[in-house]
Amino acid sequence: MSARVLVVDDVPANVKLLEARLSAEYFDVLTAANGAEALQICQRAECDMILLDVMMPDMDGFEVCRRLKSNPATHFIPVVMVTALDSPADRVRGLEAGADDFLTKPVSDLVLIARVRSLTRLKMMTDELRMRAITSLEIGVQAPERSAINNTGKGGRILLVDDRPSSHERLAPILAAEHGVDVEPNPAEALFRAAEGNYDLLIVSLDLDSFDGLRLCSQARSLERTRHVPILAIADAENNPRLLRGLEIGVNDYLPRPVDKNELLARARTQIKKRRYADDLRDNVQNSIEMAITDALTGLNNRRYMESHLATLAEQASARGKPLALMMLDIDYFKSINDNYGHDAGDDVLREFAVRVRKSIRGIDLACRYGGEEFVIVMPETDLHVAGMVAERLRRAIAGEPFAIHKGAERIEVTISIGISTLEKKGEAVADVLKRADIALYRAKHDGRNRVVSHAA
Ligand code: GH3
Ligand code: MG
Ligand code: MG
Repeated sequence: MSARVLVVDDVPANVKLLEARLSAEYFDVLTAANGAEALQICQRAECDMILLDVMMPDMDGFEVCRRLKSNPATHFIPVVMVTALDSPADRVRGLEAGADDFLTKPVSDLVLIARVRSLTRLKMMTDELRMRAITSLEIGVQAPERSAINNTGKGGRILLVDDRPSSHERLAPILAAEHGVDVEPNPAEALFRAAEGNYDLLIVSLDLDSFDGLRLCSQARSLERTRHVPILAIADAENNPRLLRGLEIGVNDYLPRPVDKNELLARARTQIKKRRYADDLRDNVQNSIEMAITDALTGLNNRRYMESHLATLAEQASARGKPLALMMLDIDYFKSINDNYGHDAGDDVLREFAVRVRKSIRGIDLACRYGGEEFVIVMPETDLHVAGMVAERLRRAIAGEPFAIHKGAERIEVTISIGISTLEKKGEAVADVLKRADIALYRAKHDGRNRVVSHAA
């Protein structure tokens, strides 16, 4: 899939030039002649990246960028400012407006394509995460865009890898004004430290005396622990080809020496902001996966998860010729606990019940909350006899020790009834196994509760 790049410039000749170069590299190109038009196109989510002219009548590039970055619907679109101005002060102004990158007119082909490619790669990755996060919105997980917009990018943890004292003694104090900074002058130690240190940003000098800085960057990219940590490279200006090579291997941004103080700070903040946004997206996806399969009150798996997973466990057992046992548990007279002590006390009992269940079963057993005060435990490689012993142990773990309610102010007796069944023949429907456990449970209730009943087929 090729990326769609929006080129915005009030001078038609400039638009044509960039359009031709990008098209030649098989990018899909859209164009706009002013800021308002650009905002509309972005709002409709029709582009993956923007090359934005700074000097335009009506609304200048800084303002367009600020608007894009403060809107949750367009916040994540990378913005590259294309500017004739090339003072660090101008670049800092752009970064403050939220720009992801800069190109200076006249734009060199090599630099243009390297920048666009590297930002496209990053965008594809966050798109993937965002798509999953959107799904999680549907089940009530908060989208991270809001916090991303308020994120200052300050207060990060930075590892500066630089073996020249004259350089790191100048750079570290600058960064320390806004972040926590560790300096690693020994490049051979740097990767280890980066992996251990939980950093928000690695700043790597490519002019190391004893080591290839680019190699370090590529190693950091391939290591699980550092894969998502942004890298800002610094190199002597004449080392420009190495800086471009860096972008290809996954360096996120670079600065030529001599390093401008404000630009260094602004670029560090930009990278840290992006890192936090991507982390939030990943957490968000992780949370939604957990929410989708977990019961919030007890932390056990929910019924939906159990039902989909039970089928897999049954198939595995059939295929390997191993037994599989299933328990259905129901708290006795639970309604009267609610009635006599209140719904909160009922919830306390459910939570404590889940704790005791977890203690009584093995890691490979699957415990789930099947309904209100009804639970199912699936036990792989377990026959009816052993399942009966586990169930009896669990019954005693519940009945033998009163449950604390009202923050420990009171303790009440709780009992459970348990029905057990097993997978009887290869390929048997799991619904049948559940049904037999349910019948056994009904008998346990009927026979007086606080007991275990097995149902052999
Ligand atoms: P039995 O011994 O026959 O199982 O009687 P029981 O009272 O336990 O069974 P019944 O099905 O009549 O009542 C279950 C009660 O569980 C009714 C419902 O209000 C309550 N319940 C279901 N989910 C929750 C919950 O999340 N928290 C609390 N506190 N109560 C719940
Ligand atoms: Mg009950
Ligand atoms: Mg019930």
